[in-house]
Amino acid sequence: MSRPLRAFVDASALAHNLRRVREAAPGRRVIAIVKADAYGHGLLAAADALAGADAFGVAALEEALRLRAHGVRVPLVLLEGFFEVGELEAIAHHGVDVAIHHPWQVEALESVRLEAPVRVWVKLDTGMLRLGFAPGQARAVCDRLQASPNVASPVRFMTHLAAADDPAGPGTPRQLARLGAALSGLEAEASVANSAGVLAWPESHAQWVRPGIMLYGASPFPGRVGAQDGLRPVMTLETRLIAVSRAVAGEAVGYSGTWVCPEDMPLGVAAVGYGDGYPRHAPSGTPVLVNGVRVPLVGRVSMDMVTLDLRPVPDARSGDRVILWGEGLPVEEVAAAAGTISYQLLCGLTTRVPRVVGTGHRLATSGTASHAL
Ligand SMILES: *Cc1c(COP(=O)(O)O)cnc(C)c1O
Repeated sequence: MSRPLRAFVDASALAHNLRRVREAAPGRRVIAIVKADAYGHGLLAAADALAGADAFGVAALEEALRLRAHGVRVPLVLLEGFFEVGELEAIAHHGVDVAIHHPWQVEALESVRLEAPVRVWVKLDTGMLRLGFAPGQARAVCDRLQASPNVASPVRFMTHLAAADDPAGPGTPRQLARLGAALSGLEAEASVANSAGVLAWPESHAQWVRPGIMLYGASPFPGRVGAQDGLRPVMTLETRLIAVSRAVAGEAVGYSGTWVCPEDMPLGVAAVGYGDGYPRHAPSGTPVLVNGVRVPLVGRVSMDMVTLDLRPVPDARSGDRVILWGEGLPVEEVAAAAGTISYQLLCGLTTRVPRVVGTGHRLATSGTASHAL
């Protein structure tokens, strides 16, 4: 028998969450963000399940080329554009859109002779202080790019919201005002909204929305879970108990003995660890499901294993099912316990965790309607 850890990916939940995007941003075109291997879910399987999207957003040309080789024909957007001029030939050949955020990229575009013009999204920095041109440069950058035969007309614009997950804060209105001022009179299409913008800021929807995390069923808002926004979790990370034992009061669990048994009690060991991307800093008390019942993780997370307090499920036995997050245990909750965000847990899963794609988690686990990636 092989190691029992699996990440089940529910394709129907992805499709459902895309419908939620369309419901929240009616009439807008959707750039489904599938960077970082579709937030750890598997790029190609996610693209298949999200086939209704108008475009896909990725961080690297390699991802775009994998999508093209897979037969994806819709526009693909390189969210940070190209990293070196040598990428432009393939970008033009495969018809990939690029964000342009810096003068060196403009110069690079002007310095080559491409087989076809490339669609450009000028990235403006309206307040994130990360990437983009100052809003006041919008027209000048636009004019300069339009003058190049390598640039498809018309140029589009994008900006990224720094605090859309704070529906009461001043940051998003300030960014939207700066964008509005920069684009006034330009009549260009634009893209602004990430997941939090899609859900909380209708005034940010513009022509194209760019949801990521909500497609995977997690909430972009602190203190909330996806179900509260009508989303369904896509990934269920599941393994099994590989050992059950009884410990005596006063004994310490795991490396450095950071957790001491308060009484005689059952302990379980599950096959998952930081070598799989389960967070090593998840503290004692982080919730885990054993046979559908919440139990606390105890002691340090090891590379391949975690130890669980089985007092809430005293009948649990080796081989019983353990869920680290997903169905019945929101990834947001595990992330909060570990002092991080769902994004990091999802895209931090390592390659040794087999992804199993199915429609509905139960179907996938029974093995009837699933296939390994
Ligand atoms: C990752 C990313 C998104 C998606 O953000 P979510 O918070 O996951 O919805 C949107 N736009 C850009 C530029 C990104 O890099």
